[in-house]
Amino acid sequence: MTERAGVDRDFLASDDGLLRALGLLSREHAGGAPLDLPERLPEAGLGAGPVLDLLAPIVLGGAARLGHPSSFAHMDPPTPWIAWATTLWNASLNQNLLHPATAPAARELEDRVLAWLAPCFGMSGGHMTPGSTVANLTALWAARECAGVREVVASTSAHLSIGKAAHLLGLGFRQLPVDATGALLPDALPADLSRAALVLTAGTTGTGAIDPLDAAGRAAWTHVDAAWAGPLRLTRHAPRLAGIERADSVAVSAHKWLFQPKESALVLFRDNATASAAISFGGACLAVPNVGLLGSHGATAVPLLATLLAWGRTGLAARIEHCVDLADAFARFVHDDARLALLAEPQSGIVVWRPRQATAFEHVRQSLPPGSTSTTTLDGEPWFRNVAANPNADAGLLADAVRRAL
Ligand SMILES: *Cc1c(COP(=O)(O)O)cnc(C)c1O
Repeated sequence: MTERAGVDRDFLASDDGLLRALGLLSREHAGGAPLDLPERLPEAGLGAGPVLDLLAPIVLGGAARLGHPSSFAHMDPPTPWIAWATTLWNASLNQNLLHPATAPAARELEDRVLAWLAPCFGMSGGHMTPGSTVANLTALWAARECAGVREVVASTSAHLSIGKAAHLLGLGFRQLPVDATGALLPDALPADLSRAALVLTAGTTGTGAIDPLDAAGRAAWTHVDAAWAGPLRLTRHAPRLAGIERADSVAVSAHKWLFQPKESALVLFRDNATASAAISFGGACLAVPNVGLLGSHGATAVPLLATLLAWGRTGLAARIEHCVDLADAFARFVHDDARLALLAEPQSGIVVWRPRQATAFEHVRQSLPPGSTSTTTLDGEPWFRNVAANPNADAGLLADAVRRAL
């Protein structure tokens, strides 16, 4: 196993091995089946090189290609190479942000990313989480500690993580009605929100609707779930999220419209010092307080920082704005074809549509390129849903496929 006592070469980077791994990544692979793998834990190892060849068809050939021109279905973007290359650094270094000693610089890098992004939302700071599910739970935990809220109030279009958080935190959960596009009806807001955390969604998962954010500040605590549409704040579409700056907390998934590898998200607080103190635990072997839900966690700020440095705000904005344009172009196609119905003008790069003839739905669904379109159910009716998370998507290609299917 080792050539020199004390040095296990499997822990050292081998240029040949890494180049081979990268080469396999850029090649086409016929899909392999996970069933080709040994059924039982192998007694003897195959060695790293043969494992690459064994897994390439299964892992690479079996993956959805989110940067493919026909990929226009989900909130999951392709990742720029600078993001996954620095993620490889992270995986190799394996720093733990729980301990300053194991991540001397990485903690400061996270602080820097937060200092760049939090002000875009009117927030003073926050921390990274593995997703907005955890960011939403963290924010509502702070709401319970800081504002003594007893219930969570959100629209029926809110993400399921909101109901989950209320359940975990022992808070009531009240759901409010939405309009036909999926946005909270402002008239439905209860007059007394003095014991409530009001959750407004900026870009609902189903339709991309943006709740009336001018309601922010009307409750004991307002949390804006901007998991999807939050990054619009860095673009020329920032005014669509006007009012978000009056929230007490904001969640943004960086692995959605900030093009980051999973798991990457931000929880932001208007008064970060107070909120973070309320959700901190210390002691034992910890040199610094442990803020929030996570124990050991990695340096997810590094790829985000690298992406923001590589692109700058304008470079990031250009990608997101291009995605918005793709959604608008596809929505125009739907709008202009008499055989199709558009739910609403896209608010945040999500197009929801269907054939006017209900019987055509299933045929169209089966005719569309795999991975090009998702479906959602509104008021018991099936709709198609396209999400512009992929700057390399080709809206014309999809329009042609829909035309052919009709
Ligand atoms: C995706 C999403 C979430 C959950 O975020 P994850 O990053 O998947 O955990 C929460 N809210 C909304 C509106 C979302 O679209």
